[in-house]
Amino acid sequence: MIMSTKNEQLFAQARKHIPGGVNSPVRAFAGVGGTPIFIHRAEGSKIYDTEDNAYIDYVGSWGPMILGHAHPKVIDAVKRAAEDGLSFGTPTPFETTVADKICEIVPSVEMVRMTNSGTEATMSAIRLARGYTGRDKIVKFEGCYHGHSDSLLVKAGSGMLDIGEPTSKGVPADFAKHTITLPYNDPQAIKDCFEKWGEDIAGVIVEPIAGNMNMIIPEQDFHDTLREQCTAHGAVLIFDEVMTGFRVGLGGAQAHFGIEPDLTCFGKIIGAGLPVGAFGGKEEIMSCIAPLGGVYQAGTLSGNPLAMRAGIAMFEDLTVDGFYDTLADKVTKLVDGIQAAADRHGIALRTNTLGGMFGMFFVQDENSTTPSNFDEVTQCDMTIFNTFFHGMLAQGIYLAPSAYEAGFISSKHTDADIDATINAADAVFARMAS
Ligand code: PLP
Repeated sequence: MIMSTKNEQLFAQARKHIPGGVNSPVRAFAGVGGTPIFIHRAEGSKIYDTEDNAYIDYVGSWGPMILGHAHPKVIDAVKRAAEDGLSFGTPTPFETTVADKICEIVPSVEMVRMTNSGTEATMSAIRLARGYTGRDKIVKFEGCYHGHSDSLLVKAGSGMLDIGEPTSKGVPADFAKHTITLPYNDPQAIKDCFEKWGEDIAGVIVEPIAGNMNMIIPEQDFHDTLREQCTAHGAVLIFDEVMTGFRVGLGGAQAHFGIEPDLTCFGKIIGAGLPVGAFGGKEEIMSCIAPLGGVYQAGTLSGNPLAMRAGIAMFEDLTVDGFYDTLADKVTKLVDGIQAAADRHGIALRTNTLGGMFGMFFVQDENSTTPSNFDEVTQCDMTIFNTFFHGMLAQGIYLAPSAYEAGFISSKHTDADIDATINAADAVFARMAS
């Protein structure tokens, strides 16, 4: 069992000058209670707290660490890039290489623009959809997260097809009124929405596999309907693959469903853990961005050479034949093992997996199905999740500190890591059942 009082002391210090002690809310452990662990280094499948306690990590910096932490090839690329200078504010050959790579791997992307975060990518894609169509309304889905720009911090109004309401203070109602929020995985809701607002909708943004309400893989019909309706009404279909891109498979969720979105947003993996984002798509639409067109979009550090050279190094491994099959095998072994342990102790668990990503839901009882939308996720047993989370943490297993987050594995997770994780889960479930 890991026992540490150092984290409490560090958290108290952090709270003095950092709001809530964190630079992104989920890190504060508000959902699960307790004190966040402060990490000072990481290697392979493990992160280490400031007393050098090791944790097998299934967060992977929320997705980017698909090759494991501090991968020698990536670190080497960053070191060499740093020696050549940190940022030039000019074009570099490295950003062209990353753009070429993305366009080669993802056929729907003909042109791509780099940003510094996923939030910037989705915010810019929304502006582009509006600029391209000359319309204002956008559609998003309940339980999907697309970063924290004003238009996207919006939930459904009182009626399903009503204008949205802000989910954060500081977002003007005048912005939110242009965002419509629909239930996820519901083709009829999409049809009804386009029937009512079709001529006003600039674009639809969706997590094609949701990773911000745990992990939900929607029905094919949901995506077929989205594609049909956007095409029929001249709306831009935006896949937010910030999380799923190069994570659920080399071609992302769009390859899994065989859907060509008009625009795609990326982040996380393409920068190998350095701050990065990107959005890309059809040339006809992307040509509307400045300096070619009238939709303004820019960034002092966009296409930063460290992030680009780290990304190039990462792509070398991702494109090796069988990389994603091996990753998927690891996830299957892990999740099947945890499922078997839960079954043994009568804990009602449902799971989803694809590529290097997984979701685990503590459902109400053995008759409950795997959640397929946000409402169903909220009905899961959060108390059981919290007990599970802390039980695992005490045994050196780091899961996302929220029942609404997905899990991520890396190519560096070993059989021994996975067996240790399954054994830890078995011990927690045994205690819960007794
Ligand atoms: N879109 C999705 C699907 C995400 O999961 C996230 C972050 O987790 C974002 C956008 C925002 O990315 P960032 O945190 O880099 O701004």
